[in-house]
Amino acid sequence: MKNFHSLCMVNGSWVRSSDEKTFEIANPATKAPLSSVPALTSSDVIMAVDNSAKAFETWKNMPARTRSDILISIANLLTERLEEFASTITSEQGKPLSEARGEVMYAAHYFRWFSEEAVRINGDIIPADSPTKRILVLKQPIGLVAAITPWNFPLAMLARKAAAALAAGCSFIAKPAPETPLTALALGGLALEAGLPAGVFNVVTGDAEMIGEIFMSSPLVKKVTFTGSTEVGKILIRKSAETVKKLTLELGGNAPFIVNEDADLEKAIEGAIYGKFRNAGQTCVCVNRFLVHKKVVEDFTTMLSARIDKLVVGNGLNPDSDVGPLISQEAHAKVSRLVEMAKQMGASIIPSACAIPNGSTFFTPTIVANVKPEMQIWHEEIFGPVCALATFSNDEEAITLANDTQYGLAAYIYSKDLSRAMVMSERLEFGMVGINDTAISSVQAPFGGIKQSGFGREGSKYGIDEYLVLKYLSVQM
Ligand code: ADP
Repeated sequence: MKNFHSLCMVNGSWVRSSDEKTFEIANPATKAPLSSVPALTSSDVIMAVDNSAKAFETWKNMPARTRSDILISIANLLTERLEEFASTITSEQGKPLSEARGEVMYAAHYFRWFSEEAVRINGDIIPADSPTKRILVLKQPIGLVAAITPWNFPLAMLARKAAAALAAGCSFIAKPAPETPLTALALGGLALEAGLPAGVFNVVTGDAEMIGEIFMSSPLVKKVTFTGSTEVGKILIRKSAETVKKLTLELGGNAPFIVNEDADLEKAIEGAIYGKFRNAGQTCVCVNRFLVHKKVVEDFTTMLSARIDKLVVGNGLNPDSDVGPLISQEAHAKVSRLVEMAKQMGASIIPSACAIPNGSTFFTPTIVANVKPEMQIWHEEIFGPVCALATFSNDEEAITLANDTQYGLAAYIYSKDLSRAMVMSERLEFGMVGINDTAISSVQAPFGGIKQSGFGREGSKYGIDEYLVLKYLSVQM
């Protein structure tokens, strides 16, 4: 059996909970136990925060080139250990190994990207009103950053926060999701190996609410970066008031996928499969609502259905699997409920012919046609391999339907007419729009949402600003 890291990484050491309590981690495909990790006590977490805040003093004063070199080492080590990390991700999260490998490379790219940004945190000199005055703008690291991360990308979501924060000169403490802490703990070990000073990168596990409360209320934590549900995001916003803490929030999504009547349907199907079935539909940018022009809906549905039938649903460790299990039985029950309720309200269900392995977490890829805005499936994040289909008659209606959501993360448009797609994309109320493209996540591009999908951007040249504060010096000569 594979050995997993099962202790927390605090101040450069592997630590247990001071009361020895742990909780179990299991493979979602088989329910087989993988390992147990510490359920830290509140005093353990307070101490970890304390040490991480002290480490900021060392890290912020290191030359940017040294910080950059260490980030490069992390990227290189991740690439060397690609298989090891991929199998840990698949074991605890369930996604197919090929996707897990992609996630490891994606995470490594974040460390490489931000190693390059670390040496380009330039300030400004601004012309002043008087000839005897100078105005200088410095960019300084904000201080200790706490991250709360989700289970759908156990490595990548952590990497895109950590890489930017560390590049900026911040120390970092992370609380991974309770379903998938093993990858995060492994990254803790790797970061130390790569030469990060003790205490600069820490991973704590335990009760989410308790750890969240300590992060939010501690004056030592200067910034909290979170990826997860809008519901928890709102709790964090409320709690941030206590210390006026800076936040970055990547929350839920409800992505529309507009298929115009002039779309290349082959390409649209290809994009739909990637945009819907990646990670078994459990990503915040996954397509939630397919909005298809009435003239092509029949062809689109037939082609989509035929393509879905070819998907292999199975244990992610099996190299043939395209779609793994859902993260838990509760997740399965939630997706079933959304489909059932839509059916009761008049939607037509087209289940796929895919063979489904035994196990309560595998969900049959399904098309739900004739979806209407009155249905819950229209408004809620499905987070499963279910395609909800609705139709429209013209561009105006497509835009109105697409924007009919509290979320504003990602949207997609398929059309051969690029000018029409550009005009439509400018009217879509989303932070990211893919035009004839669903592979929108990349380290160079600013990832993030508007409306109730959150605020702040990750990755790209903008991502590092989330971890910097501006200081202006007014100098009288
Ligand atoms: P999901 O429903 O996808 O699991 P959550 O928002 O519940 O999304 O979880 C995302 C992360 O937020 C996880 O690490 C989880 O443990 C953490 N979390 C959940 N509840 C709270 C809370 N009250 N305070 C802080 N973190 C929380």
